[in-house]
Formats: sequence, C-alpha cells, structure tokens
Amino acid sequence: MKITVVGTGYVGLVSGACLADVGNDVLCLDVDPAKIRTLEEGGIPIHEPGLLEIVRRNVAAGRLSFTTDVEYAARFGAIQFIAVGTPPDEDGSADLQYVLAAARNIGRHMDGYRVVVNKSTVPVGTGDKVRAAIAAELGARGADLSFSVVSNPEFLKEGAAVEDFMRPDRIIVGAEDERAIQLMRELYGPFQRNHEKLLVMDVRSAELTKYAANAMLATRISFMNELANLAEVLGADIELVRQGIGSDPRIGWHFLYAGCGYGGSCFPKDVKALVSTGREHGRDLLILNSVEQANDAQKLRLVDKIVARFGPDLSGMHFGLWGLAFKPNTDDMRDAPSRVVIGELFRRGATVAAYDPVAMSEARRIFGDDPRLRYVDRPMAALEGADALVIVTEWKEFRSPDFVRVRELLRHPVVFDGRNMYEPVTMKRAGLEYHGIGRS
Ligand code: NAD
Repeated sequence: MKITVVGTGYVGLVSGACLADVGNDVLCLDVDPAKIRTLEEGGIPIHEPGLLEIVRRNVAAGRLSFTTDVEYAARFGAIQFIAVGTPPDEDGSADLQYVLAAARNIGRHMDGYRVVVNKSTVPVGTGDKVRAAIAAELGARGADLSFSVVSNPEFLKEGAAVEDFMRPDRIIVGAEDERAIQLMRELYGPFQRNHEKLLVMDVRSAELTKYAANAMLATRISFMNELANLAEVLGADIELVRQGIGSDPRIGWHFLYAGCGYGGSCFPKDVKALVSTGREHGRDLLILNSVEQANDAQKLRLVDKIVARFGPDLSGMHFGLWGLAFKPNTDDMRDAPSRVVIGELFRRGATVAAYDPVAMSEARRIFGDDPRLRYVDRPMAALEGADALVIVTEWKEFRSPDFVRVRELLRHPVVFDGRNMYEPVTMKRAGLEYHGIGRS
C-alpha cells in the first residue's frame, strides 16, 4: 500500500518505518526542514532503540522516503496518517492547529479517494473537525472527491516504540464506513498474525479510549505517590506495599511504582486535556484534577527532602544529578521531573552537575548555557565535589553503582533517590544516608 505519514516525531517516524518494514511504500512528511534533512542524510532526529536500523533498512530498500513537500505528500498515499503534535493550549485543552493544518493540506492537494487516519491524541469530536476541514478545502477548489476519516490512536511507549508498534496489545480503529475499515484491516494484518487485535468502534469512542488509557495510568502513579508520602510518615515501606497489592490480579503489577512524578509528552498533557474536555461539557473530573495536582506536588518531593535535610537556603551547595530524560531509554525531556528539580535547586541557590546517557543535548537545548548546570560524561563524574546525589531517572546503568565510590566522592554521603532504585539496607551498609520515596 502507498502510505503518507504526516509528522516525523516519535509516533510518525516509528509508524512510518514499521509500516515500510512490512512491505508498504511510505512517504514521511514534516514541516521541519531540519528533521527531513537529518533523515535524508541517514540519521534520525530522536533517540529510539532499534529505530535507526529500521529506517536505514527501508530507505535502502526504496520503501521509505522523506519530504517537506505537502502537495506531493497528499498525492502519494491512499492512506494519510496524521501524527503531528497536539500540545496543551493555555487553558489545558489540546491545541489542534497542527492536526487541522495537516487535514487542510490533504484536502487542498489530494487527487483521489483518501483514508485520513488520525494517530495524534485528540479530543472527542476532532474527527468531525478533520472531516469538515478537508471538505472545506475540497469545496473551495470545486473538487468532488470522496474520503474517510478514521481515528487510530497510538499506544506505543517511547523507549520501546518499535517493539510496541510491531507487537501491539490492541489496535483501536474508530471508523464508520466499511471501505475504510477494510483498508485498516489489511494494513494492520501483518501486525496481528497470532490473534485478532483490531477493535473497531465509532470514532468518538476511539478518541476517548486513548485519553482513558493515559488517564488511568497517570491515576495509578499519582495514587501510589500519595500512598508513598503517607507511608513515610507512618513508618511503612511503599515498596513492600506495592508488592502486596500488585500480586492481586485485579490490581496487577504495572504502573505501581512510587517516584518523583510522571512526565513526558503524553500523561501531563492528556490528563489536562481530558479535564478540560470535561469542563467544556459541564463535567468536573474530580479524580483527574487531583491526579494532576498530586503529580505537580510530587515533582517537588525530592527538593522537599533536600530542604528537610539541608535547610531552605541551598546557596553555595552543589548537587550531582543522575537522569534528565522523563524516563529511561529516551532523550525526551518534555515535562520531565528533572526540569522542575533543577529549576527549584537553582531557585534556592544551588548548582548542579548532571549526567544522562542520551538526554544531555536535549537538556542543553532547554537550559542553554546556564552556568549553574554542568554536564559530565560519566555518572561518577557528577559526584566529584557534590554535596549529595539526586536521582531522577531510573536508567539501567544506575542500578548497581559502586556505592563505596559514591560515598568517597560525595562531600556528604547522602542520596536522594526519586525512583527507589536501591534497598535502604544496602545503602545503610554502604554508609550512605538514603532518602527514597515512601521508604521509611
Ligand atoms: P512530536 O512533537 O515528536 O512530532 C510531531 C511532528 O509533527 C514534528 O516533527 C512537527 O514538525 C511535525 N508537524 C507539525 N505540524 C505539521 C504539519 N502540518 N505537517 C507535517 N508535519 C507537521 O510528537 P509525537 O511525540 O510524535 O506525538 C504526536 C502525537 O501522537 C501527539 O498527539 C501525541 O500525543 C501522540 N502520541 C505520542 C506518543 C509518544 O510517546 N510520543 C505516544 C502515543 C501518542
């Protein structure tokens, strides 16, 4: 099949590359010429395990190409995926300007039947807006062409995106006409060879399903964080509580880790957008309002602990910080807790030496050359001359450090661990004062 993917970010590039890998002809469009240049030169603009190999393999096979030409892109694929960003607007609602611009471009230049598949996370009702935008463009040029609009939200996780796309848990297709449903079945056939994973529903339910999934996961995290904060004052250990409840199959093991808050490009903005949708329709989403508030507060938990230990004025103090990305295996720092922690340490007069395996260039882009933030190329180098260690992201390489060396390098043998990576007894044995989340 000939497919156009609009947007070459985490979702668009992974989808495009994986769809090419099963034999389709895929053209990826982006309005950012720098991204397209990087791709044409054989690189990829993001860090995503396994993605570079797939991109290179399919470019070499002639199945994957890139462009900034919107007209060519609209004419290329009978299936047009929209995978552009939907960042939060000022009031928290999803900003649809990129989705609608993509839809208008398709309507303006398409020259035959198109299935327009929306992969971006969008509020309920966006399918209708996309349909109207395309129809308006067709009307303006007097073109009598038919098209279908499908909602196909994406559930891949950054850091495991290729694997998730290749082996999805489920494929949600919101569509109301048979022709489009049939095409989507054919398109996703190669990704569900063992058993049927495609769930067809109406467009509005499909749009809401994506928000429901992310809101549920965010709720589990905020719930555990709240209990962790309580466990601290009660003298209980949230890690034991986690094991105690996760073994109940009605609860399950996933997303029960307490920590210094969730971040990333999806949970914060999607919870906000769903709250905003509720408000727009006269429904105050009490649980999700609290999930968001709890998370904002949780991002400051590490600094609260630092203040409790060293006092509110941290001027002259220097901290080693491990982990900048919002989670391991990605360079994404959108809404990352590290940004809040670093900002608050600065505000209180401290300086930071940071290490992250892949997110340091992204951090440089965000913080510019702020002299209060120094980057180092090894975890241990962040501890040289540091008053204490602060851990924000649970990268695998931090799991088993040489604790003796950690103690020797730090001026005070204190570790603030926002991801509960270590056992308090191990730390005690190593002579380190350990502050986890929810661990008494
Ligand atoms: P991103 O910001 O990484 O990429 C979006 C890309 O779209 C950018 O490269 C941008 O230049 C391009 N773009 C914007 N307007 C365009 C236009 N009119 N024509 C062509 N290109 C255009 O975004 P992302 O993380 O890939 O997310 C895309 C969507 O998918 C969002 O709605 C997001 O919520 C959703 N989503 C993201 C993830 C994730 O893990 N990142 C997972 C599931 C769903």
